[in-house]
Amino acid sequence: MVAIRTRSRFGPPAAGGGIVIPIAAPLLADEEADAARAVVLSGWVSQGPQVAAFEREFAALVGAPHACAVSNCTTALQLALAALDIGTGDEVITVSHSFIATANVIRHQGAIPVFVDIDPETYNLDCARLAEAITERTRAIIAVHQMGMPCDMAALMAIARRHGIAVIEDAACAAGSQIRIDREWEAIGKPRGDIACFSFHPRKVITTGEGGMLTTADADLDRKFKLLRQHGMSVPDTVRHNSSSVIFEEYVVLGYNYRMTDMQAAIGRRQLERLPELVARRRAVAARYAEQLGNLEGLRLPTEPAWARSNWQSYCVRLPDRLDQRIVMQHLLDKGIATRRGIMCAHREQPYSSLAQGQDLRQSELAQDRSILLPIYAQMDAEDTLRVADAVRAELER
Ligand SMILES: *Cc1c(COP(=O)(O)O)cnc(C)c1O
Repeated sequence: MVAIRTRSRFGPPAAGGGIVIPIAAPLLADEEADAARAVVLSGWVSQGPQVAAFEREFAALVGAPHACAVSNCTTALQLALAALDIGTGDEVITVSHSFIATANVIRHQGAIPVFVDIDPETYNLDCARLAEAITERTRAIIAVHQMGMPCDMAALMAIARRHGIAVIEDAACAAGSQIRIDREWEAIGKPRGDIACFSFHPRKVITTGEGGMLTTADADLDRKFKLLRQHGMSVPDTVRHNSSSVIFEEYVVLGYNYRMTDMQAAIGRRQLERLPELVARRRAVAARYAEQLGNLEGLRLPTEPAWARSNWQSYCVRLPDRLDQRIVMQHLLDKGIATRRGIMCAHREQPYSSLAQGQDLRQSELAQDRSILLPIYAQMDAEDTLRVADAVRAELER
């Protein structure tokens, strides 16, 4: 693990190439290291009691009846599709404007991704264009809460229910985000559709190195996830290990090995304890950016709809047309500030070149080409955001 105390107790990791302000930085400290150490010394390092406890605690935190931990969010999304029996020839509606795993899992199941354009205000699926993408072969929608900003689930669920289509939430970025449903603020992960999938990659708000989680209200789906992630094994190894009588397992379905380890889960449990603080800190960073960048002519800042509270996994700004994205990013990098371009569109990547594309995905393409992601992480102080804001201002005044 990288040393994290370069500047303060929770300073960002030292990066190469003269980077002073990285794009992101996980917040990991002694608590996580001690938790992993205890598991290493316990004698049980694969999926076991820590995974079970992490699942219980995650479920309780988001208000879901069931949670199932897996190796990453990509496998979580694939299990979600598999558990819903989505396969060859089925159509799954989602956005092209997402991390490519969202579309890849659909194709790995033999199904066909049907891309809908985004709303440029939220960078999420434009629900006004959802209905026109539905055909008699549509089996599911994967709704992405991109960069932690909740997707308009009320509008989306109304359409999905009307057509009897399953809904999977790609909540990879959205641990700690909230959405207002029927006047109540609820965590993303509390079941609204059928299944929600989370990532614990270090670029997300909490991390286990690699890791994922599925939540659902459906006990049958949860049972399927738990069978499928462990080779379709009828009796888990933990049960056999602790049994005083001999047990023979069976392999009742065609499964996978998508397990999380107990070391990861132990780290995840400590990260869960930090989640409210991590989100509060990120929201403070976003508020400072809004203040420091708010009056810059031509720069469009991300905003939360009235019914959404983002965890600000990423902070994405839209550049004015006259500025070149790559040049702005290079100038910032020259000042030691790392950025990333806007979320990339899957339909523009090679494995998707042969996929028939009738859809108008102009807003998705513009978001990729005209946006940049600014550094954001919980440890970022006012000095850091001001430094970024000053560098962005210099570009706009150029
Ligand atoms: C990161 C991410 C994924 C993949 O998560 P992994 O845990 O890295 O597999 C999927 N979808 C979205 C929207 C993501 O941002």
